[in-house]
Amino acid sequence: MDITELGTGILKGDRRALARAITLVESRRADHRAQAAELLEQLASSGRQAMRIGLSGTPGVGKSTFIEAFGMMLTGQGLRVAVLAVDPSSARSGGSILGDKTRMERLSRDPNAFIRPSPSQTHLGGVARRSREAVALCEAAGFDVVLIETVGVGQSETVVAEMSDLFLLLLAPAGGDELQGVKRGIMEMADMILVNKADGELKSTATRTCADYAGALRLLRKRPQDPAGFPKAMTVSAMQENGLAEAWSEMQALADWRREEGHWSGRRAQQARYWFEQEVQQALLAQLATPEARQLMQDLGDRVAHGDTAPASAAAEMLARLEGRQAGGTGSS
Ligand code: GDP
Repeated sequence: MDITELGTGILKGDRRALARAITLVESRRADHRAQAAELLEQLASSGRQAMRIGLSGTPGVGKSTFIEAFGMMLTGQGLRVAVLAVDPSSARSGGSILGDKTRMERLSRDPNAFIRPSPSQTHLGGVARRSREAVALCEAAGFDVVLIETVGVGQSETVVAEMSDLFLLLLAPAGGDELQGVKRGIMEMADMILVNKADGELKSTATRTCADYAGALRLLRKRPQDPAGFPKAMTVSAMQENGLAEAWSEMQALADWRREEGHWSGRRAQQARYWFEQEVQQALLAQLATPEARQLMQDLGDRVAHGDTAPASAAAEMLARLEGRQAGGTGSS
């Protein structure tokens, strides 16, 4: 594969080149990883930036309905929109749930939109890296907005928040006064909470739910990256396409303020550092996952269990053996 040519295609906004490049960054083959790294280096100088919007919500809350309506509104304004998904559960279910084109039929046919389903990979680290690199590819391809969708399970929200400029939490109207069990940590990540399905019979419940969340958001510690009034809770109806323009205008206001105040580039710099550290940690962990390393772990573990060796000295031996293997050039690459 000619990487320079692929890079040129992406910079020209060629969708097929983009799709091929995403397939490349998804691959775990060592030669593909090297090519992907080369491609990303080549594209890094494009300097193009999209607005990266993370969107999280439990299944059934209306994510795909929202993305379709919101995406169509943006493409209607002449913007180019990419939709990616971070879905650690897709590996378990064996198929992709998020970013599925059949869930967003109109948007998937829109020439100004690009939808890529979640890959099936076994661990979140792999999904995270692929998504992060796919975001970079979409930016280089000149997309104005990149929507990164995830379900509210486990760590996936943190992963998405760490690759987004803005993070949205989509919620359903809830009866009673329970805050839908939304964890405090997730509330703290949100820049905006959108209470969806504010239409028909659900409208008044949605308005009440929204007020509850607005109250809860006010109780959170103020973050330096927020202007007055943020994080914000709003009602929307993805189905009736109500409140979407208002939500977009709030997102733009927030983005403008952060750019002017230096929080935008500051956050991107901090995210780049975070991903670098993640890469290092994962590479180190991968060294432990080779069959030889596992065997060594097992053997040393047995010796520790039998009381033949102290845990600390066995650990030191383990690390020395790993380093020795690396220095000897027989480690995994
Ligand atoms: P996802 O699983 O989060 O992607 O949710 P979907 O977009 O598939 O929506 C789940 C269900 O909620 C579907 O039956 C939608 O028609 C419905 N739904 C989505 N948005 C709205 C809305 O704004 N109002 C109402 N009343 N129903 C909605």
